[in-house]
Amino acid sequence: MTFDGMWSAIEPIGRARTGGYRRFAWTGQDADLREWFAGEASERGLDLATDRAGNQWAWWGDPDAAVAAGRPGVVIGSHLDSVPGGGAFDGPLGVVSALAVVDALRARGFAPTRPIAVVNFVDEEGARFGIACAGSRLITGKLDADKARGLRDADGVTMAEAMTAAGHDPGQVGPDEETLRRVGTFVELHIEQGRGLVDLGRPVAVGSAIWPHGRWRIDLPGEANHAGTTRLEDRNDPMLALAAMVLEARVAATAQGCVATVGKVRVEPNGVNAIPSRVTAWLDARGPVESGVRAVLQAVGRGPGTVAVEESWTPETIFDVPLAERLSALLDDAPMLATGAGHDAGVLATAGLSTAMLFVRNPTGISHSPSELAERDDCHRGVEALAVVTEELAR
Ligand SMILES: [Zn+2]
Repeated sequence: MTFDGMWSAIEPIGRARTGGYRRFAWTGQDADLREWFAGEASERGLDLATDRAGNQWAWWGDPDAAVAAGRPGVVIGSHLDSVPGGGAFDGPLGVVSALAVVDALRARGFAPTRPIAVVNFVDEEGARFGIACAGSRLITGKLDADKARGLRDADGVTMAEAMTAAGHDPGQVGPDEETLRRVGTFVELHIEQGRGLVDLGRPVAVGSAIWPHGRWRIDLPGEANHAGTTRLEDRNDPMLALAAMVLEARVAATAQGCVATVGKVRVEPNGVNAIPSRVTAWLDARGPVESGVRAVLQAVGRGPGTVAVEESWTPETIFDVPLAERLSALLDDAPMLATGAGHDAGVLATAGLSTAMLFVRNPTGISHSPSELAERDDCHRGVEALAVVTEELAR
């Protein structure tokens, strides 16, 4: 089936009336997408393997013979799950393009000397259980299997229960060396989550790096009191500290060339007529260099009693530099772009695998929203770019 045909086939799956997608890991929508993927693999005569975490790999050629020969495979693909209210392209563009690449290479009579796989990583967005890139983190050992099995969704269902319901044995979950050593090179094609390519007037870029990023919980203590009877000068109102903190984060991020977001806040007791006793806010900050991101954190929340707890920190991920330069040269000197978003490609790169990314132009620059877009011509250009790269790597 062509790119357009495959795109039409999955378009209705998990789409809400508002146009946004809800394709959470290990749900019915996810099962439909996984079944569709297995069907596309089988239609092409590819051998489907499901690893310990539930990621799907469709192989053209024998991956283990290639490992034995010291020439492990070339893997292309991405993920099919979404955030709540997500767009159509984040993830599926990479999977559908990869399947279309297999067709394109066969149509031109290409005979790979290294096996090629199309991968569908499970649970990339972490929308259901709260941990992004769970599928790739599990097989690389970056996410502990017991911890993963015990994660709960908003309804209290554990990941282990969700896997069992979807027919995947949670007892298998864990690091998967056998799967990883089959991967010689991984190239993930993805919709661009910004306007870099629009500004450059180019359809495709090569990923250079993923920005260092962190997440902090900031506790702002105060004193609960009556909203009507407490004089302003007598108040200890943590909501004012929060307001100052949000503005400080914005100023510091601007000065440092970073981005900073306060997207989640908890207020106690959360009453209209009560001065809060405590406000808890979460700061997400990312930027091109670690020192800039740390400077944003330093600039916020220095009031009395304020505590910042680091919930996660991910250092900069630099993709395989010679590989990125080689791909850029192959693609008519495609520009190199860094991104502030995490990806399975970043997890595999951190685990020491040779990894690259291609980005396809997004005219709205918007992502994780129904406004996310790639023009169909650019999708086809992305397929062609990925085909050129795959052919070169599997030659
Ligand atoms: Zn994605």
